[in-house]
Parts: sequence; structure tokens; C-alpha cells
Amino acid sequence: MGWAIALHGGAGDIPRSMPAERRQTREVALRHCLDIGVNALKTRRHALDVVELVVRELENHPNFNAGRGSVLTTKGTVEMEACIMDGNTKRCGAVSGLTTVVNPISLARLVMEKTPHIYLAFDGAEDFAREQGVETVDPSHFITPENVERLKQAKEANRVQLDYTQPIPKDAKSETPLADGDSQIGTVGCVAVDNEGNLASATSTGGFVNKMVGRIGDTPIIGAGTYANNLCAISATGKGEAIIRATVARDVAALMEFKGLSLKEAAAHVVEECVPRGTVGLVAVSSTGEITMPLNHTTRHVSACATEEGYSNWIWNSEEN
Ligand code: ASP
Repeated sequence: MGWAIALHGGAGDIPRSMPAERRQTREVALRHCLDIGVNALKTRRHALDVVELVVRELENHPNFNAGRGSVLTTKGTVEMEACIMDGNTKRCGAVSGLTTVVNPISLARLVMEKTPHIYLAFDGAEDFAREQGVETVDPSHFITPENVERLKQAKEANRVQLDYTQPIPKDAKSETPLADGDSQIGTVGCVAVDNEGNLASATSTGGFVNKMVGRIGDTPIIGAGTYANNLCAISATGKGEAIIRATVARDVAALMEFKGLSLKEAAAHVVEECVPRGTVGLVAVSSTGEITMPLNHTTRHVSACATEEGYSNWIWNSEEN
């Protein structure tokens, strides 16, 4: 059985007109992260280590909506969340409301490994981070000029970025063309199966631009944005509220488990039939090394994958290319 890996850099109203240089920055970063994951799998690292490693790298990149590049709440603050799950044991860990932790995904793993719990949030999660000695920084580290601008544009348009299908109105005033409709940069996620058949999933995000303080999305919710069992591993991105309602990640696994669908069939069914159009994209791998990266209609996302057999695929910006 060969290894397989897939990762994504989020879904959203990323316009086709986005300048090539801005597309390129994320593309280069995603390719770099894919290489890191592939090399780790080739050296027989456990799938759980691989997804953590890849998501840490994506979190450190300011062009994705996770870790360093996290988007801002309505109060101009950062509240990061992340989740990791080990398929064979179904052990999992999740965190929300982080303001100082450099790599939320690693804290999620520590919750999984060092506590009797699954999910820690806000002050309790921050205290746990200090206790564990993970790298923390002043919250201002996460407030990038791009995200200050995104928040400004969202406020001017009086918009909480919940609707992935609507670009920011053209008359929204902005001094810089930064957003250019790119109001939602990418949440990140990675799924992998290693040579021993271990499956794992990891997802990390800053949530929505202009979200309410305290809002929790699908990313840290087991079975919604993130899930893995002994059949498959899934990481979703898109409109969190829709993904939670549809228990997107768990439904993909359940269709395989109870209906005997293949990974591709199960994921296509969930994405096309169970959530409103334009609200979700996901990456998934199965225990047999199958990969799928569907997205529904108007949603666009950026994702990449590779398998030991040499299959690789790249989806940038829309389902058509
Ligand atoms: N799903 C994330 C959330 O709702 C956002 C995203 O995927 O971009 O918080």
C-alpha cells in the first residue's frame, strides 16, 4: 500500500482576476508544503506527524488564513483554531480562541496527547499553551497589514464574511486594491495516509474576516471540518456554519462505512447534495491511497496532492482548471 497526501489553502471568493503574483505566492507556498509532506512520507514518518508538519508550515506563511496570516475579528483581534485527528485510534485534539500561539495545530496535538480532553478554548487553551512551553508571541505578531485592510474593507461593506459567493461590492471604499475581491484567504488543511495505512487529518484557520468575537467555526469541530478514521481522512474549508450543519467530514466517512461508497463517490455526494452551493471544498484520502479534492460549484479553492505511485494533481482557483 502506497502513501498519499493532499493539502489545501482554503476556499472562498478568490477571483479569477487575482493578479498572477498573488496567485503565485500561495502556489509556491503550497508546492513547498507538499514537498515537505512527501519527503516526510518517503522517510516513513507517521501520517499524524506529516499532517502536523505540513500544517505548521502553512501556519507560518502570512498568505494563508491560519497562524501568522489569520484574519481578524470585528474587534481587530485574532482568534485562531485548529484540529488534528489520528484515523486508526480516533484520538483527536482541538483548540479555539488562541491569540498568542504560533502553531495552533501543535497545541491541538498536545491537547490530544497530554490531556484527558479533546477540545480546549480561549483562556484555558492559552494557559495550557504556557504550561506546555509551546512558542507564543505578542498578539500583534498576527495582525498583518493585509488583514487590517481586509477587515477595513469588510466593515466598509458592512459585511461579515459569511457568504462565499458574493465579492465585496465594487463601491466599497478602499485605499489599496489589496482585497480585489479576495476577501477570504485560505484556511489550511492536510490529510495523509502513510505506508503502514495510518490516516490523519489536520486543519487550521483564523476563521472569517469580521467574525464576532468568540465565534467558533467548523475547523476545530470533529466530524465537521476535520475527521479521520481507519477508512479515510478529511479536511474541509468553506462556510463553517454550513459545514457544521452538514457534518461534512463525518458524512463522507459514514457513506464509506455504512454504504460502501468509494472515497470519491462519498465526498462528491456530500459536497454536491448535502451543503448549499458555493459553501465547501475539501481534501480527502482513503486507506487505499485514493485521493479526492472536490468543491461545490461557485466555491473556489487551492489544493494539491501526490501519491507514491506518482499521481499528482493541482487545483487552483476553480473547479474548471
Ligand atoms: N471554514 C472556516 C470557518 O468557517 C473558514 C474557511 O474555511 O476559510 O471558520
